[in-house]
Amino acid sequence: MYSAEKPLIDVKNLKKYFNVGKNQVLKAVDNVTFSINQGETIGVVGESGCGKTTVGRTLIRLYRPTEGEIYYNGKNINDLNKTEAKKYAKTAQMIFQDPYASLNPRMTVGDIIGEGIDIHGLYRNGDRQSRIYELLEKVGLNREHANRFPHEFSGGQRQRVGIARALAIEPEFIVCDEPISALDVSIQAQIVNLLMKLQKDMNLTYMFIAHDLSMIKHISDRIAVMYLGTIVELTNSNELYSNPIHPYTKALLSAIPIPDPKIEKSRSRILLEGDVPSPINPAPGCKFRKRCKYAMDVCEIKVPELKEVSVSHYVACHLTSR
Ligand code: SF4
Repeated sequence: MYSAEKPLIDVKNLKKYFNVGKNQVLKAVDNVTFSINQGETIGVVGESGCGKTTVGRTLIRLYRPTEGEIYYNGKNINDLNKTEAKKYAKTAQMIFQDPYASLNPRMTVGDIIGEGIDIHGLYRNGDRQSRIYELLEKVGLNREHANRFPHEFSGGQRQRVGIARALAIEPEFIVCDEPISALDVSIQAQIVNLLMKLQKDMNLTYMFIAHDLSMIKHISDRIAVMYLGTIVELTNSNELYSNPIHPYTKALLSAIPIPDPKIEKSRSRILLEGDVPSPINPAPGCKFRKRCKYAMDVCEIKVPELKEVSVSHYVACHLTSR
């Protein structure tokens, strides 16, 4: 379990904008502040286009922030010199959504896993091969798989290869970018359980990105719900599921199917009207207001701030500050 006293990552007022031409700005991440504690899993959830993957990519320095800071162990990751940046690249890794597209089809699984080991000069000669075998076994594959190519594996096995590749250089922090979304439901739990076991064994810290709330509770210590580039609710998993406050979180929760057909048939769903608005030149006020049945006049003019409404439970909604 994570230590609340020791944040590993501190994200402060992060913005990531993209110029998309003709004076148009896509505000993918728009003033996001949160921290991730050592050994913790923070789940980040929201519909497509909410900015969750952009946050993840900015945390591992694939993107540079437009504004704001990201501190890793107290050091701003965008102020690193070349040596420090190489060290950080070893510390922070990413597991991708589509395990097939992210694996080079012309390389054997052994070489895919060994690539990072070579770049960082970690294991030499026979040690390198032993390390590859060890990693394959750690993720539930076996050493014979080292000589095979990605197309010879199932989706779940390919994701295991992706995990082994991320672990090869002994990272501390991993952004798991929807690692189970492309997999069969029957395989999803296996991958989640594997990630949880690896976290325990290797003291890893995760940011786990998902597009809905169905699987994320099991793995997350805390969950941040994102909508159109901002965090609208942030609290620990149990609290979020038992006491959701933001209208958007409530709608996401009501969309999770319940395995009991009787309950599933009788319960009412909160249907979100309309699509997610465009993040290009968004209108002022609350970004959720066009889909919110509680929207008030103030919601049109004032952006709701993320405020602590009870212990460690943060919500950005004018309803909670009335
Ligand atoms: Fe709805 Fe207003 Fe709250 Fe936004 S701030 S979620 S529009 S009530």
